[in-house]
Amino acid sequence: MSGVTVVGGGLAGMTAAWTLRGLGLPVRLLEAAPGLGGMAGSRVIEGRTEDHGVHIFPAWYRNTLRLVRELGIERNLRKARNFHQLLPGEFPAFRTAVTPAADRLLFYYGVIDLLSQRYGPRDESLHDFLHSRWYLTEAAIADIEHLFVASSAAESPAVSAAGFRGSIAAFARHPGPVRMPRGDLERWFIGPFRERLEADGVEVRTGSELTAVTVSGDRLETLTVRGADGATVTEEAGGHVVLALPHGRLSALGGEVTGALRPPHGVTELTSRPLGALHLYLRRRLPQLPDEHVRLVGSPHALTLLDVGRAWRGHEVTVLNCVVGRVCRLAELSETEAVKVLVDELSTYLPDLTWDDIEHVCYQPHFAAPFFAPGPGSARFRPHSATALANVHIAGDHCAAPPGVAGMESAVRSGLTAAESVRRALRPEAPPVRIEPIGDISPSAARLLRTALAPLAAAVRSLTTRTRGR
Ligand SMILES: Cc1cc2nc3c(=O)[nH]c(=O)nc-3n(C[C@H](O)[C@H](O)[C@H](O)COP(=O)(O)OP(=O)(O)OC[C@H]3O[C@@H](n4cnc5c(N)ncnc54)[C@H](O)[C@@H]3O)c2cc1C
Repeated sequence: MSGVTVVGGGLAGMTAAWTLRGLGLPVRLLEAAPGLGGMAGSRVIEGRTEDHGVHIFPAWYRNTLRLVRELGIERNLRKARNFHQLLPGEFPAFRTAVTPAADRLLFYYGVIDLLSQRYGPRDESLHDFLHSRWYLTEAAIADIEHLFVASSAAESPAVSAAGFRGSIAAFARHPGPVRMPRGDLERWFIGPFRERLEADGVEVRTGSELTAVTVSGDRLETLTVRGADGATVTEEAGGHVVLALPHGRLSALGGEVTGALRPPHGVTELTSRPLGALHLYLRRRLPQLPDEHVRLVGSPHALTLLDVGRAWRGHEVTVLNCVVGRVCRLAELSETEAVKVLVDELSTYLPDLTWDDIEHVCYQPHFAAPFFAPGPGSARFRPHSATALANVHIAGDHCAAPPGVAGMESAVRSGLTAAESVRRALRPEAPPVRIEPIGDISPSAARLLRTALAPLAAAVRSLTTRTRGR
């Protein structure tokens, strides 16, 4: 086929297909699963539409939110103003902050300190940053580390400090409420996106898995695709190909592909970890739960939850959609055992919850679909969209991006950069694809502030040491 084949119908591939079609190019989108959306989508499991996991859209997701506006579905997202924190034994008293005021003050000083760092591609881990700061208290460090593993499945030694710095700068540059879909991702986000793609003439083929490729000279020559019926077809690549696959699947295509990436073989150095989901359908409405996200502070499996029975339309009972940050710890257990561990853990925070309340459980550990959170030093391995193969371009949330850009924003951004790479080859006369910058905070300005506030931090730290020891 001349035109463009996009392989992988997650958010990265969908964005690339949308943008390329907008340039007037013939586009087809091949996706292995029965539906589009990848991790940002839903699947029908036992007759219910289940999200891969509940998703939030922070205000600094400029490319993602612009895409949402372009699709005309901004009303499908609602604002959430609070991220509630719940400690064991405190229900129904939700907090907005966990640590005492002094620890928080020192944490904010730490944020300024972090913003004053100038990290290159070889940064340090969040663990090393936090544990080398003389002023941070153990309570503050433990809380930040727990927050991270709950949202990214990565423990602090596996988190890039430059990435944390980048996301803090992004939140500071673009303050405002986070958004979340009014219901499941399929109905409120991915379904309407697919409709727009097809209405604009993108040929969408689900149940089509790329199993192999061949390379000849500096071009990808053939694609071997297994269809939903199990039959395998090898065809000429024809025009350009955007590979919008998770990094593990990209690596599986072999050395001729990974060697053509920029940097060569960098993708084989990347690491992802499963971030699980547990959905509990109750027989009744649990009283006093908010309709926004809740983090179960200090929970051993790093649980966050949203009562979608309140947050979404059309429910009269409680439906808890939980994200399980430390799902890896459950890898050796059967599904029944894992669910028992998680429900027991939930009940230490939600004393009203009993086994009799639970009508239906959907547990998705996602061991086969791990989530990419940038590790320390990983920036130098993340692939750029252009490759040494003249007709191959790369997209996916693991692709090169400014520090801190991860998750859906990274996926959407990578779809745009891959489309720009194709545009340069096929439509050089067209204006460049627009990619919204997130912006940064100047390390020099942060450094000045850090110096000015150092005596205050020292005074608060010595006070906490005197009143409670280390
Ligand atoms: C539980 C959970 C909660 C999350 N919450 C948030 C959140 O709140 N905010 C946020 O920003 N991000 C969140 N994320 C992350 C976010 O969903 C992902 O970063 C993003 O959706 C990745 O998009 P992608 O297109 O790069 O990859 P994917 O979504 O992985 O898409 C890749 C696609 O390629 C397909 N594919 C794979 N192999 C082949 C093949 N050989 N042939 C054809 N197709 C193939 C896959 O089926 C998939 O559809 C969360 C992730 C998880 C797991």
